[in-house]
Amino acid sequence: MASRRNDKLFDKVLIANRGEIALRIQRACRELGVKTVVVHSEADRDAKYVALADESVCIGPAPSAQSYLNIPAIIAAAEVTDAQAIHPGYGFLSENADFAEKVERSGFVFIGPKPETIRLMGDKVSAKVAMTKAGVPCVPGSEGALPEEPKEIIRIARSIGYPVIVKASGGGGGRGMRVVHTEAALMPAVQLTRTEAQAAFGNPTLYMERFLANPRHIEIQILADEYKNAITLHERDCSMQRRHQKIIEEAPAPGVNARPLARIAERAAEACRKIGYRGAGTFEFLYQDEEFFFIEMNTRVQVEHPVTEMITGIDIVQEQIRIAAGQKLRFRQKDVTRRGHAIECRINAEDPWTFVPSPGRITAWHAPGGPGIRVDSHVYQNYFVPPNYDSMIGKVIAYGETREQAIARMRVALSEMVVGGIRTNIPLHQELLLDENFLRGGTSIHYLEERLARRKQAA
Ligand code: ADP
Repeated sequence: MASRRNDKLFDKVLIANRGEIALRIQRACRELGVKTVVVHSEADRDAKYVALADESVCIGPAPSAQSYLNIPAIIAAAEVTDAQAIHPGYGFLSENADFAEKVERSGFVFIGPKPETIRLMGDKVSAKVAMTKAGVPCVPGSEGALPEEPKEIIRIARSIGYPVIVKASGGGGGRGMRVVHTEAALMPAVQLTRTEAQAAFGNPTLYMERFLANPRHIEIQILADEYKNAITLHERDCSMQRRHQKIIEEAPAPGVNARPLARIAERAAEACRKIGYRGAGTFEFLYQDEEFFFIEMNTRVQVEHPVTEMITGIDIVQEQIRIAAGQKLRFRQKDVTRRGHAIECRINAEDPWTFVPSPGRITAWHAPGGPGIRVDSHVYQNYFVPPNYDSMIGKVIAYGETREQAIARMRVALSEMVVGGIRTNIPLHQELLLDENFLRGGTSIHYLEERLARRKQAA
């Protein structure tokens, strides 16, 4: 292992991502005195974080397949710039085990778990099997992958009980799943999902779970080092979702029974020790009737990591870098204290009601500030939002001593915020921040969709 050192961090880290997370990683590196190399597509040439990097390398044209997913180009960029480690961010290659393996084989450090761990957790069927073995409860469903035989599939669905959800083992980003309410709809749904899964993820393997009627999405943030030390940075509630994509996240999760929560967090940390997990990671659970059911593990930093940082004071990205450099965890569980409440609103370049993407030139930009407000965004006045990538242009995070204060601060922040020239989902957030059910706390993952449907009817 060429460049792992126990005492010293890396001299130079290559950031294999774009947008706000590229800037976030760059900030962490610069604060640590680590030089940065940014790789970028032709569409991101003018980004500020590209100019701020010690070095930058254009790795291809705008389409991700030719740039941010171009493994040989990224590894070549690390070679020519003499970087020692590669941070993959989230999305793109962050959960690609082949990429992690090629990075390590080429003599660089992958800032993340071992390739075999990514592989184990990236396949949701094998992840569920591993978690069951490690004592983490999963959503009741098929034992392993669905067979080919329709009769068998029908039998499995009956034994689970309708409604069921058919999911792609290789799926991610809220894609590759389908809810089925009746036996008549089962086989067509299975066939469609299988075809989609093959096309989108190159893997036709499916599994089935009971579709929970009223769950919340609660996840546990973990940090683990190479020496089998693992701690939890506690939970986040990410139940406000549209099309299985999170839009508001918060920590702590309001009104969750503390005992099962503490138990599931410790189970997750213990599972990390058992599988030899290394780095930052998140265990995602559905929570219903005071019970937690594992759905998947994300083996990377998450979009919503700032809410945890705000209440624990721990910089998750810096810890990722330290762990990858071979350092021992700097905290024990009892050192992790929490204070106050934090909420994050994802700001997307899209119409707030039709959700049609709205790329283009940002003609005016004013970011909010004040006590407890954090804005993670790479955009600026005159920035051009390229149409090629995810529509998220930044995140506003509000911290308060209480949930009420965090929400009040978020309302003020969004009222100050100006994004001209494109449409954003800020008006949707502003509505939700006045919604009485959201204010009460604890809405389910289906709440936003139901609310949007009611809104449409009323219009
Ligand atoms: P992805 O990797 O695409 O994010 P997940 O398995 O994490 O897929 O599921 C994403 C979201 O889909 C969850 O947060 C939840 O809203 C919904 N979901 C997944 N499984 C179930 C289930 N068994 N019952 C109800 N909703 C589910």
